[in-house]
Amino acid sequence: MINVTLIPVLDDNYAYLLEGANGETAIVDPGEAAPVIQELERRNLRPDIIFNTHHHGDHIAGNAELKRLYGAKLAAPAKEQSRIDGIDIELAEGIPFSFGGEPVHILETPGHTRGGLCIYFPESKILFTGDTLFSMGCGRLFEGTPAQMWESFGKITALPDETQIFCGHEYTLSNGEFCLRIEPDNPALQRRMEEAQTLRDQGQPTLPVTLGTEKQTNAFLRAGSAEKFAELRALKDRK
Ligand code: ZN
Ligand code: FE
Repeated sequence: MINVTLIPVLDDNYAYLLEGANGETAIVDPGEAAPVIQELERRNLRPDIIFNTHHHGDHIAGNAELKRLYGAKLAAPAKEQSRIDGIDIELAEGIPFSFGGEPVHILETPGHTRGGLCIYFPESKILFTGDTLFSMGCGRLFEGTPAQMWESFGKITALPDETQIFCGHEYTLSNGEFCLRIEPDNPALQRRMEEAQTLRDQGQPTLPVTLGTEKQTNAFLRAGSAEKFAELRALKDRK
């Protein structure tokens, strides 16, 4: 099983430290190097791999420093190869990859960016969604269409409900407020908001969250069609 540690970076991003059962170590989306280095030093670890979910600076800005310091190999979307410097391993759906002694499945999930992806570890049942899916929210459609994003969601919702989702930002409370406007009487949503508020009051992250909970609470995942999803996304963008 892979052990995951959240590392808060920048204002509201999360990078993640992954430790595999075979001793391999990875970092997901280092938007900033310093807090990641601090955690690695504290634990006396060196990353073998850096994963990027997409090309935005708040997910990749720490790549170069971590490569330089530790000689880590950068594994990032093949389709964003022209927008991410220093890729060593091109990730694409259907191309086998492994980490920590486990298979890694790449889900190409265009919408937020054209070439973005989610990283799924089926044995550990953990999923890194970057800015495709947030708890009770989703990324803005900077480069993709609502139909593409809706199709991307379909790849995520096909995974087991117990999958633990680790996303790129701590946006849970503000996202949840939007979902409550859409579904004020949804009891699962009310419960999740209470839980999230308690965690934030204690200075704790609201992640991971299970896919099952997201299916019950995330208005975007619950839209039912690409058309309805497009309306919700547009409504949130105008907020
Ligand atoms: Zn992004
Ligand atoms: Fe981001």
